[in-house]
Amino acid sequence: RQSCSAEPGLMTATDTVNYWQKVFETNGIPEARESSQYIVSFVLGAKTFQSLDSKSLHTPLTALQQEQIQQLSHKRLQRMPVQYVLGEWDFQDLTLKMRPPVFIPRPETEDLVSLVVEEEFQKCENSALCFPVPVPRPVILEIGCGSGAIALSLLCKLPQSRVIAMDKEEAAVDLTRENAHRLQLQERIHIIHQDVSHSSAKQLLLWGPIDVIVSNPPYVFHEDMASLDAEILRYEDLDALDGGDDGMRVIKTILSLAPSLLKVSGSVFMEVDPRHPNMVEHWLQAHPELLLTLHAIHKDFCGKPRFLHIQKQSS
Ligand code: GLN
Repeated sequence: RQSCSAEPGLMTATDTVNYWQKVFETNGIPEARESSQYIVSFVLGAKTFQSLDSKSLHTPLTALQQEQIQQLSHKRLQRMPVQYVLGEWDFQDLTLKMRPPVFIPRPETEDLVSLVVEEEFQKCENSALCFPVPVPRPVILEIGCGSGAIALSLLCKLPQSRVIAMDKEEAAVDLTRENAHRLQLQERIHIIHQDVSHSSAKQLLLWGPIDVIVSNPPYVFHEDMASLDAEILRYEDLDALDGGDDGMRVIKTILSLAPSLLKVSGSVFMEVDPRHPNMVEHWLQAHPELLLTLHAIHKDFCGKPRFLHIQKQSS
């Protein structure tokens, strides 16, 4: 017996995905199928549509489920990013609460976390004269923590680390705090509501000199802001993306502050625009007093130069 997609009461998960996909397509909503699949599987309590078994796919949904799907789909029809529609999103191994206007973590940023983790384990191995190899115990500062994605992932991957996470937006600080509590990581994170351009070293040295500064700063060139997707422009805090005329406004602020915060041979790991590695290299050459060296440039999964590893030299 075929279920009838015209009658909501009999629509299965598959029918419902197809139905909303059509509605999204008709209304010019990008990623129509993925959006529909995310919403339907979320309401059915599954992470992905692909993970639903054939019974769940072919059982008619309840009226309540249909209503929930309809409510969420109407948000997506307003171009709300699916991460805000669902109110949660995965980053590395964590499920984080999401809500507008706090910046949604992008998949490429997961690699920024991995670079920091690898470097910290590498340092321990290099310095180990004895067995067992000591575990990394870095003090990390995250500048612009947003939802807390980077900070909280680092706390999980580096179980002896501590993180100071700061953001100039109260909504971001609140969300980081909420996510930290949900993941029971609140003991190892210190969250500060502050703009990095108004910060003094003293306030950030509560646990002594910093081993690693990590940041996904706003780095979009101002002239490129207008061409961002409607999802971003309508819902996300644009201050988390707009890096000023050369995209480097906050990058320069972070690098200017870094020497007074870092231990000797401490590191800054930053996500940037692919045009930035050269620009940052020149800027550092023009500012030898900062004692910072561009140590490595790493590519993202699209092959674009995306991550900078900068190190503090010995004076
Ligand atoms: N890559 C991001 C985006 O446009 C920009 C992130 C940023 O400025 N930090 O989605």
